[in-house]
Amino acid sequence: MEGVIIKALSGFYYVKTADGVIECKGSGKLRHKGLSPLVGDRVEISLDQAGKGRIDLVLPRTNAFIRPAVANIEALICVTSDAIPVTDTYLVDRLSVIAVHNHCQVIIAINKVDLVRTERLKEIYAATGFPVIACSAETGEGIEELRKAVAGKICAFTGDSGVGKSSILNALNPAFSLRVGEVSDKLGRGRHTTRHVELFDLGNDTWLIDTPGFASFDMEAVNPVLCEDLQYAFPEFDAYLNGCRFNDCAHLKEPDCAVRRAVEEGKIHKKRYQSYKLMYADASKYKHWEMKK
Ligand code: GDP
Ligand code: ZN
Repeated sequence: MEGVIIKALSGFYYVKTADGVIECKGSGKLRHKGLSPLVGDRVEISLDQAGKGRIDLVLPRTNAFIRPAVANIEALICVTSDAIPVTDTYLVDRLSVIAVHNHCQVIIAINKVDLVRTERLKEIYAATGFPVIACSAETGEGIEELRKAVAGKICAFTGDSGVGKSSILNALNPAFSLRVGEVSDKLGRGRHTTRHVELFDLGNDTWLIDTPGFASFDMEAVNPVLCEDLQYAFPEFDAYLNGCRFNDCAHLKEPDCAVRRAVEEGKIHKKRYQSYKLMYADASKYKHWEMKK
């Protein structure tokens, strides 16, 4: 039987199958391979005589992350806002790079449009090709558009504490009844406390995960982005990459750089280019031999 792990708790995995949710144990075979199943994994399971489930096989993953410990994320919804807490787009850009690099779609949700304007964030992401959805968990504006954008996917919601992730999930389905606005409680879950991860079922093969703030969405440890790969994780650079004088142009100080020209002409947003430069400097600190397995 095949299914998806929707929750992991105290050594048990809860696997959604065509026959409903089945509580499963891992198998010795998996442990032997050093493979620990993650929420989001597609798995093959079998039932013993007593009707207890066991995971026999974890199917190949498209991606896997450490914090939160999840696999096969198809869309990362970055929840942003110009209301307090105002989103620092560098954090969004860092996550979007990791997401794009790991074959995960990026969706920008601009929340609290009932309170503030959306122009700044819309402009920054206009050229990226990422869907940008202005919404309000309070009034319901944009929530149907968001529902369409996440349909049929395993989606992770990320964003600063207080930006409205729980409120948006509740707006998508009031039955989730996530606690809203209890910031002290949220901060209480420190960076290193293990928080159990659970996929919320939105129906029609749509699964949503609420993740902690930007800082702890840690995907890099799994699949770090090398500086020469960084350019491919900025979709709005694509159209210009063949236009640079040098094939190995890093788009930093080289003459005749088509990417920099596009920034000067306003075709690539300067904030995004700034993020690229900062990330490039960061990524160059890694040595290649440290990365390759
Ligand atoms: P989270 O930490 O990202 O999960 O954010 P919460 O969902 O807990 O929301 C934090 C606060 O923002 C709460 O007081 C919410 O009521 C409020 N909030 C969330 N979304 C909106 C919105 O679209 N408009 C307004 N005005 N307030 C919102
Ligand atoms: Zn260049």
